Amino acid sequence: MRYLCNSFSIQMLNVVEKIEVVFQPLTKEKAIQELTDGFKSVIGHEDTAQVVSSDLGLTIKFNREFISIDEKDIVIVAQIEGGRLPEGCTTLPEQFSLSYYKVQVKSNREIRCKICGHVAAEEEWVTLRSGSELIKLNPDKKTYLPCPGCGEDVEFEILEVK
Ligand SMILES: [Zn+2]
Repeated sequence: MRYLCNSFSIQMLNVVEKIEVVFQPLTKEKAIQELTDGFKSVIGHEDTAQVVSSDLGLTIKFNREFISIDEKDIVIVAQIEGGRLPEGCTTLPEQFSLSYYKVQVKSNREIRCKICGHVAAEEEWVTLRSGSELIKLNPDKKTYLPCPGCGEDVEFEILEVK
């Protein structure tokens, strides 16, 4: 799932052991691109949703839903910088700015090619196939992926590297 929110919280994660989270700054244009194929807004405040709507030129509903994310999810954070928004504002006041970030929980699995033995992070394999969307590879399902090493569509083996 792809979410749009206005702040990132550790509460969104299920941290039972060490995990890694990747924060990638985005330009506004990149943020719009990330959201064009659909997203769910979890911006919990109506004014903030309005301000982000007008900055991105997208319709964004406010939604107080609490989310829990894992490696399959992408969170786009629209972070208002400059203080607390004045009550009732619908566009960004002059002294404020909006910064965009893409946040993903990093998978701690590596994938090994059964043909050439190339080992690379799950993200690297999956990105080759599906662009930017990280899907969780299922070790039980027989799937073939293009190998980042030999370039062939190969059977792969999943290694846990925790
Ligand atoms: Zn290979």
